[in-house]
Amino acid sequence: APALRPASPEQQARWAELADEIDKLSFAYYVQDSPRASDAEYDAKLRELEELEEAHSDLRVPESPTQRVGGTFSTDFAPVRHPQQMLSLVDVFSVDEVSAWVSKTAADLAGRDVTFLTEVKIDGLALNLIYEHGKLTRAATRGDGVTGEDVTLNARTISAIPQVLAGDPDDHPALVEIRGEVFIPVAQFAELNAAQVKAGKPPFANPRNAAAGSLRQKDPRVSAARPLRFYAHGLGTLRWEAGHVGELVRQSEAYDHFRTWGIPVSGHNRVCATIDDVLDMIAYYGEHRHSIEHELDGIVVKVDEIALQRELGTTSRAPRWAIAYKYPPEEVNTRLLDIQVAV
Ligand code: NAD
Repeated sequence: APALRPASPEQQARWAELADEIDKLSFAYYVQDSPRASDAEYDAKLRELEELEEAHSDLRVPESPTQRVGGTFSTDFAPVRHPQQMLSLVDVFSVDEVSAWVSKTAADLAGRDVTFLTEVKIDGLALNLIYEHGKLTRAATRGDGVTGEDVTLNARTISAIPQVLAGDPDDHPALVEIRGEVFIPVAQFAELNAAQVKAGKPPFANPRNAAAGSLRQKDPRVSAARPLRFYAHGLGTLRWEAGHVGELVRQSEAYDHFRTWGIPVSGHNRVCATIDDVLDMIAYYGEHRHSIEHELDGIVVKVDEIALQRELGTTSRAPRWAIAYKYPPEEVNTRLLDIQVAV
């Protein structure tokens, strides 16, 4: 089997070169909020690394960028450990790979009814909100997945994030981690960049970087002045108060709770019963990518049943119960054009 063929010295050297390049690009992207390559270039390097490791498993070491959550954290913020690890997602770039994954997942769960939750992949940055007895007690970036950056004061300035959960306090958990994406809507991004240019400051490269740079500010007043929004897309630890009845069966039900608590969730998510429904969702947003409120770079497909998610488990880097389909990269020019239009 090819997996058993050890890597040649040239392949080892290529591996080391790619791993080093990826680490440097990650630092610029996650810590400095100023990417030094396009996402497509970064993804291509990661994919080449994955392919090398696929062919030569001796290269697949725990410290490889393929085995870790991509980010890291800055010393500008207090480090905080997430009660439950925050993971990345496995990316695929063709609908055939999505179909293969859906079929395999359904086969692995043979005999059980499985439905797929499909969601727009919002191009922002991940934020973990902790609510204790209904009160927001902490907000942290993903960081390396285990340790994130404490950005609570900045997150409190985002009006979409409630300080206190809405609804009946008896329905509030003792502790809940709500994961989601902080982003800047496309329309406000154009205004923000126009204002930057007017103030003689360099415009932001894209809404994702603008959102990350705006949230990760030392002065919360700067964050407050930026048009940041939030949509929830995940659940970490959930501990109900003693005596609470009823268990969450589906992730989509968690979103129903989030909505009653005043936490925004994307209106574009759909529960799909068949592969065809999943592929329709991908085709639909492939066509309507530019007519929704935020940038999206793909569609995330998740197993909706929480018990089945637990059964499938995770790798060190990503859940096995979800996959991200990424749309083909677009011409870099469109973004430059946006900036010119904004000016
Ligand atoms: P990812 O962005 O591909 O996927 C994981 C993230 O998706 C999650 O952490 C979550 O925040 C987000 N997400 C958005 N919508 C979601 C939804 N509906 N459900 C679940 N999660 C959702 O992986 P990553 O590890 O965060 O980062 C890799 C990305 O960053 C790639 O797109 C890569 O191109 C880019 N990147 C670029 C550079 C560069 O130099 N240009 C460097 C590093 C990373």
